[in-house]
Amino acid sequence: MSAAARLRRLDENAQITVLERGPYVSFANCGLPYFVGGEIEDTDALLLQTPQSLRAGFDLDVRINHEVIGLAPLAKTVQVATPEGEIAMPYDQLILAPGADPVAPPIEGLDSPRCHYLRTVDDAVRVRDKVDGTASQAVVLGAGFIGLEAAEALRHRGLEVTVVEATDHILPPAEIEMANLLADELRGMGLVLREGILAKRIEDQSDGCLVHLSNGEAVPADLVVVSTGIRPATAVFEATGLACDKGAIVVDQHGRTNLPDVFAAGDAVVSQEAVTGAKRPVPLAGPANRAGRLIADAIAAPSARPQPQPLGTAIVRIGELTCALTGANRAALVRAGRQFTTVHLHPLNHAGYFPGAKRLDLMVHFDPVSGELLGAQCVGQNGADKRIDVIATAMRGGLKAADLMDLDLCYSPPYGSARDAITMVGLLADNVMTGQTTLWQPEQLAWARSDETLLLDVRSPAEFATGHLPEATNIPHTKLRGRLDEVRAAAEGRPIAVMCQSGVRSYIAHRILVGAGFDSSTLSGGMLTLRAYLGKDAESVLVK
Ligand code: NAD
Repeated sequence: MSAAARLRRLDENAQITVLERGPYVSFANCGLPYFVGGEIEDTDALLLQTPQSLRAGFDLDVRINHEVIGLAPLAKTVQVATPEGEIAMPYDQLILAPGADPVAPPIEGLDSPRCHYLRTVDDAVRVRDKVDGTASQAVVLGAGFIGLEAAEALRHRGLEVTVVEATDHILPPAEIEMANLLADELRGMGLVLREGILAKRIEDQSDGCLVHLSNGEAVPADLVVVSTGIRPATAVFEATGLACDKGAIVVDQHGRTNLPDVFAAGDAVVSQEAVTGAKRPVPLAGPANRAGRLIADAIAAPSARPQPQPLGTAIVRIGELTCALTGANRAALVRAGRQFTTVHLHPLNHAGYFPGAKRLDLMVHFDPVSGELLGAQCVGQNGADKRIDVIATAMRGGLKAADLMDLDLCYSPPYGSARDAITMVGLLADNVMTGQTTLWQPEQLAWARSDETLLLDVRSPAEFATGHLPEATNIPHTKLRGRLDEVRAAAEGRPIAVMCQSGVRSYIAHRILVGAGFDSSTLSGGMLTLRAYLGKDAESVLVK
């Protein structure tokens, strides 16, 4: 619809036809979980346009219940199944935007009437009817974006919800130290999480079903939401010579496919990720809308802007928390062979002395040599979206990590801090790049706990007593200058791995130690990051 509407604005005389196999055009698919949860009350709010409104506003010929069942690129026609029978429709220019279909995981009994996808308005209406009816127990298969939004919505409606995720943590694009914060929030809301576990079989019963899991558990459910990912809906084009990669349509920077006068956009196309250069579908609404508009430009004017490579900026609400992310995560950077370092920060969203300040958990990956910003993630009650949007903007603009310290961001106590979280990222990145600070990462915990180092916890004794690593020596940073001989004796020439609560005091301690000639490094993000990184394991690793 972005392409069609833009094309009309560029060419008042074009004959523009839109073919849609379903009964709705331009519905708000991102709103479906919120309809299930009741925050969006009416289906009308989800139906953004009708064929009539599109005819009136844009002179578009929108044909619902018209399914494209074939494409003849030489004859330049599409074969369409219509309510009145099959027809061949000619085109001068064709835009393919078929989107993606939900993946059906290999689970016996998935065809049970208890199982639902959440792709269409009708899917959402069916799920909501059950929620409005007698359903009281739900299982959500897959804890990606849709699964988490659905789980939150179902819990909001008072259902008992179990979320089953195949990988070792929920929301796999999020780093583990972010995902564990979200998992805690979900558990706090009363949801049950099963991570690293698969559903094996769905057994229908007279009054519901049993979801049999790979750990032997059988979870009773009135309703199962299947949100285990999507795949491009391109099967119909397979035999046409359309170039695809793992089912996704390959396009150039203007959205052109290999077939003459055939373009493609949306969840069904391969994108090239901005940071890593990896080629894969990036099924997000922002890039899809942008691509649609730019394809219309490319059709109307040969000098159209190329489509920007997506950063994959995304956001999801989970209870009181927001998780926002942009760019590459650790796994993607490792896959791409990129060198990177990571800073973790735990600043407040606004001035601490103004009531209501809440912690943000923010982490940023950057190239330690060039300073290129590679990715960032933030979890918090307020302001996570703003911080990630600023970083995404900086990344698009080519700013380096240390440049973030120069940004003039809006500030007054209810909104931010004179030294905003974003400024802090810039300062910290600058410290890392100039060698003013040396970090150790939570992934290096085994090293920090080994005989190769002296692990020094510089929090107060009271904080130390709330939970610490058993190998740690406790010297508060305020006492460190007077106890350097003690440190020297304990270190016996080994490097010192310093840590504190959030990384601020350990940085001060690190500078004291460097000044005294020690080989020292400081834990990125401190105990707050370490606890989040360890998740449920924190209780067994830390001692009191
Ligand atoms: P997804 O890829 O985000 O998540 C699918 C999840 O299912 C993954 O965590 C995966 O590990 C898990 N999984 C796969 N097979 C499984 C199995 N057999 N058992 C248990 N878990 C399994 O896909 P989605 O949630 O279906 O969403 C579809 C697309 O829509 C995504 O690519 C997403 O980016 C996009 N989307 C984005 C937003 C947003 O940005 N807020 C919201 C909704 C959807």
